[in-house]
Amino acid sequence: ADWAAAVEAVRVLRADARVLLVCHVNPDGDALGSMLGFALGLRRLGVRHLQATFPGPAGAPEPFRWLPGVELLVPQDDAYPAPDLMICFDAASESRLGDLAGRLATAGTSLVLDHHASNTGFGRVNLVDPHAAATSVVALGLLDRLGVTLDAPMATGLYVALTTDTGSFRFEATTPAVHEMAARLLATGIRPGDISRRVFDTRPFGAVRLFGEVLGRATLEPEAAAGHGLVWAYATRDDLARHGQPAYVLEALIDPVRCTAEADVSCVVKQSGEAEWAVSLRSKGAVDVSRVAVGLGGGGHRFAAGFTGHGPLDEVIATIRAALPPPSYPHP
Ligand code: 5GP
Ligand code: MN
Ligand code: MN
Repeated sequence: ADWAAAVEAVRVLRADARVLLVCHVNPDGDALGSMLGFALGLRRLGVRHLQATFPGPAGAPEPFRWLPGVELLVPQDDAYPAPDLMICFDAASESRLGDLAGRLATAGTSLVLDHHASNTGFGRVNLVDPHAAATSVVALGLLDRLGVTLDAPMATGLYVALTTDTGSFRFEATTPAVHEMAARLLATGIRPGDISRRVFDTRPFGAVRLFGEVLGRATLEPEAAAGHGLVWAYATRDDLARHGQPAYVLEALIDPVRCTAEADVSCVVKQSGEAEWAVSLRSKGAVDVSRVAVGLGGGGHRFAAGFTGHGPLDEVIATIRAALPPPSYPHP
């Protein structure tokens, strides 16, 4: 990683410089938490003209609306048309920035902070660590090199990012360094119980009922993936409307699906347009779902990936099934 160039890109900013921070579409805890935590660090350095945004509807999804620094969020159309510095968080490619990708060309310079192995290096300076458990690991690495003293508001976003991307410290990426970083963040006085309640325990009751319906029609295909099974569930826009729920509630749907013992690969297909589906894939190990997703035009990590599917639902499912490695040995 080009730390020296990244430090330089921030150090040369003058007091009147405009900095635009952006993260990927349908932002998750890592995208928003690392972006806002880093933004507060820049503010500490005296950067006054800061805006943060992401493609799509304005305003953070409900579980993240309380994050310190959320007041820096502006609708994408209001974001500086030509910032002096544009910083991108948790986005593996320009396409993940939607219409905001166009700002890269007009920005004075650009910095990419990410942890996707598939990152295309679309920034002028790229800090991409595929071994990092979250983009916030990279963000804290840069804040440290900039000499920023960590405080509780900054630590809150970075901690949310770390917990969401590691499945609350359950996934493979949870190294000793991850726990050491968590210890540093907690030492600022942030409260992990409060934070996880605000992030994970805020589902409206209507979403609980919606999950019941969606999970009730989940399908298990025991022979579909490397002999380890595929479990899939889908949710339509009509499901959301009937239960009066916003689309973001479906981000959590993969969790009760992926815990299926008989399945090595799990999948949630969320309708995002008339014949368009946002597909989430998860693997327990035998299948590299990022390869599956990249093959279908998306991306992600070995154990968590996604892509956009087009056409009728059964065709999207058939495409996924066909892209999985064939059954090779029986389920233990
Ligand atoms: P999720 O299933 O939680 O939306 O995403 C899991 C992982 O897959 C994330 O790390 C994200 O980077 C990646 N991912 C999800 N959807 C897409 C997509 O449409 N395109 C790309 N390139 N990556 C995706
Ligand atoms: Mn993300
Ligand atoms: Mn991430």
